[in-house]
Amino acid sequence: MKLAGRMSRLGTETAFEVLARARALEAKGRNIVHLEIGEPDFDTPAHVIEAAVAALHSGYTHYSPSPGIPELRDSIARNAGAKRGLTFSADQVVVTPGGKPIMFFVLLALAEEGDEVIYPNPGFPIYGSMIDFVGATAVPVPLREENQFRLDVVELGALISPRTRLIIINSPQNPTGGVLSRSDVQRIAELAVEHDLVVLSDEIYCDILYEGEHVSIAEFPGMAERTIILDGFSKAYAMTGWRMGYGIMPTSLVPSIARLVTNSVSCTATFIQRAGIVALDGPQDDVRSMVEEFRRRRQVIVDGLNAIPRVRCAMPSGAFYVFPYVGDVGLDCRTFADYLLNEAGVATLAGTSFGKYGEGYLRLSYANSVENLQKALERIDSAVRRLT
Ligand code: PLP
Repeated sequence: MKLAGRMSRLGTETAFEVLARARALEAKGRNIVHLEIGEPDFDTPAHVIEAAVAALHSGYTHYSPSPGIPELRDSIARNAGAKRGLTFSADQVVVTPGGKPIMFFVLLALAEEGDEVIYPNPGFPIYGSMIDFVGATAVPVPLREENQFRLDVVELGALISPRTRLIIINSPQNPTGGVLSRSDVQRIAELAVEHDLVVLSDEIYCDILYEGEHVSIAEFPGMAERTIILDGFSKAYAMTGWRMGYGIMPTSLVPSIARLVTNSVSCTATFIQRAGIVALDGPQDDVRSMVEEFRRRRQVIVDGLNAIPRVRCAMPSGAFYVFPYVGDVGLDCRTFADYLLNEAGVATLAGTSFGKYGEGYLRLSYANSVENLQKALERIDSAVRRLT
């Protein structure tokens, strides 16, 4: 079948491919430690599950309005506002099946041929994929280890042209765990105002932060009318498979994004939206204890990687990923990731799965038990020693 030309511009997320290859090896009897997947290994909090079941029994089995049920939009506005020290209204919120569709819809709504969109590289692969897909030009801003994987604001400024329409930022960041400082975010905001740019601020990991504060770009002068915050339930509430996220945006943009929801998925599952209210308004102990457990694992994996010859790993400040430098092991990072999967039984992702500036690195998710992390570290250590 002849595909539309635009399909050649659509990328993907390698994590799903590596997971499939790892599963195929497991089907042949191999033992694999999974460090490729970007999702918490915890169960969704029990009271959230109960709320969804109760909602199903109470008849929340019909369509909802495309931007979401009013009670959830209200709860998101209150909770997301309180967390950021800002005031949002329910009519700024659009609920979607996962946070990912917000990227898709915002780029469809705002970027077109001739526009340039600046995005972090290494970064979440869907940014570049969607920028290309809508026909805009993807302009990567490199993230470097020597700058703690924070973008360099001077470099960002130099990439802005008269064609720049949008900047995508992501803090805490996937894949590096880097976190932008208050002054970084403030200076990005100043650039956005000066050049009349829109900012898509992917804050999906804002609850998974080990040091410092989460700074939302929406809080700076002139940003309320040009920021779209992307956030959701997948990471903080261990709800990846439920598919629910949201965007918070200027009210003028809401009808367009809601129309894209109507044209694609109609709405987010109604009983899941009911559970979302309980997740946000209910006790937050599970979120806190999950983050504390991630903090413990972060130490285990960073210490373990730094003890392996020719591997170096910076301490990430947020999310649940490490991005160790493996450029001295003697293989390019994709070959090394394949080697670890096939020869050592450890599934990881090559840094280049997140863009060209990821060469020399691997992404490991530490959303796995300490026991499995230790097993993976031992396997990586002996695999690296075998390379000499
Ligand atoms: N943004 C980033 C940076 C992510 O890493 C992810 C998921 O891995 C998402 C957004 C989307 O998450 P979801 O669609 O599950 O809400």
